[in-house]
Amino acid sequence: MKAWDVIVIGAGAAGLMCAAEAGKRGRRVLLLDHGKRIGRKIIMSGGGRCNFTNYFIEPSAFLCENPHFVKSALARYTQWDFIALVEKHGIAYHEKTLGQLFCDDSAQNIVDMLIKECETAGVTIKLRSNIDSVDQLGAGFSVTTNDDQYSCQSLVVASGGLSMPKIGASAFGYKLAEQFGLKVLPTRAGLVPFTLQPEDKATLEPLAGVSLPVVAESEDGTRFSENLLFTHRGVSGPAVLQISSYWQAGEPVRFELLPAGRLAQGISDHPNQELKTWLGHQLPKRLVEALLAREEWTRANITNKPLKQYVPKEVAVIEQLLSAWPLKPGGTEGYRTAEVTLGGVDTDELSSKTMMAKKVPNLYFIGEVVDVTGWLGGYNFQWSWSAGWSAGQVV
Ligand SMILES: Cc1cc2nc3c(=O)[nH]c(=O)nc-3n(C[C@H](O)[C@H](O)[C@H](O)COP(=O)(O)OP(=O)(O)OC[C@H]3O[C@@H](n4cnc5c(N)ncnc54)[C@H](O)[C@@H]3O)c2cc1C
Repeated sequence: MKAWDVIVIGAGAAGLMCAAEAGKRGRRVLLLDHGKRIGRKIIMSGGGRCNFTNYFIEPSAFLCENPHFVKSALARYTQWDFIALVEKHGIAYHEKTLGQLFCDDSAQNIVDMLIKECETAGVTIKLRSNIDSVDQLGAGFSVTTNDDQYSCQSLVVASGGLSMPKIGASAFGYKLAEQFGLKVLPTRAGLVPFTLQPEDKATLEPLAGVSLPVVAESEDGTRFSENLLFTHRGVSGPAVLQISSYWQAGEPVRFELLPAGRLAQGISDHPNQELKTWLGHQLPKRLVEALLAREEWTRANITNKPLKQYVPKEVAVIEQLLSAWPLKPGGTEGYRTAEVTLGGVDTDELSSKTMMAKKVPNLYFIGEVVDVTGWLGGYNFQWSWSAGWSAGQVV
């Protein structure tokens, strides 16, 4: 059995960061992954340019059963630390929108940077390693793979969540946590497009390709000001991806297509314009046609006529339909297209400073396998860098 100080399972964002940091401290580190390539999710992230962090990282941008849990790691290894690393490696980057930082060239730059950091720190990376079993061995662990057996003092689980099984996602980390008696919170797809209810397909499917700025709001009052995109399968775009993480099955999502008060303004500015014409100047025309044909409009008896002819009660109804358009999704596209997995290893089981399991000394969980999910926009990678770095200081 080959002896290592540290074994990290998962050569993704969190695992690479942790392995490099531990190696820098002189620890002998083995990084195992069952895939053929290192950092596959990083490579396909951000449309191939990797949205690697965000200028505005803050704990409130993370979903976690214990919202305080993320504070320590995010404060110890910040977005500025990661930006400094990117700059040290001479990687050109830019802010796209809302503080989101992307590589100018390719996400491969970030993977190459992390591999270089690991190489400099003497980390051994072994791909195509399927983990057959993990057992406690004294104060450490034994790890048996398809072709070898190892022992280690510290074991770090960085195997990620369930999204995108095609590129290697597995439930390994959750099962391992349960094997060691740790609680795992229910998982579900996050940052994911919505599908439609059968009754919405006739009016909304023809809108595929239509995109517009909206405010999306979930039942718990969370709001995101971003773009909504209609697709052949349902609705997507950043507004939908963001709100999907706050959505519970069966609930409606509300979209502010036009802010309240805009119609009143329209009535005073263009009293003789018909509603449909006026709306056509405010919203994409195809969307206007589809909205007026929908049941909520016909049920409210809203017919097309000059704006000045609407009585105050009708104005209130129209304003409500436009400023809080309710859509009840059929579901989500699921892990096939989700960017992240909500839920995971319960943070109550872990030290927020080191990520070590409180009741299993020397066992660590970092990255997406933990019940921490960030907003769209570089927040999820920053969590992986911060958690990986924090564990890397102590393993
Ligand atoms: C399409 C897409 C685009 C994204 N874009 C962004 C973005 O631009 N910005 C952002 O912040 N976030 C983005 N994300 C989310 C981000 O990729 C994840 O939050 C992040 O990769 C999580 O890092 P991790 O190290 O925990 O897990 P991962 O990066 O998923 O790494 C886990 C590793 O563990 C390995 N593994 C899994 N099971 C086993 C096993 N049984 N044995 C051995 N190895 C195993 C996997 O092969 C993988 O290499 C995106 C996600 C997707 C799917």
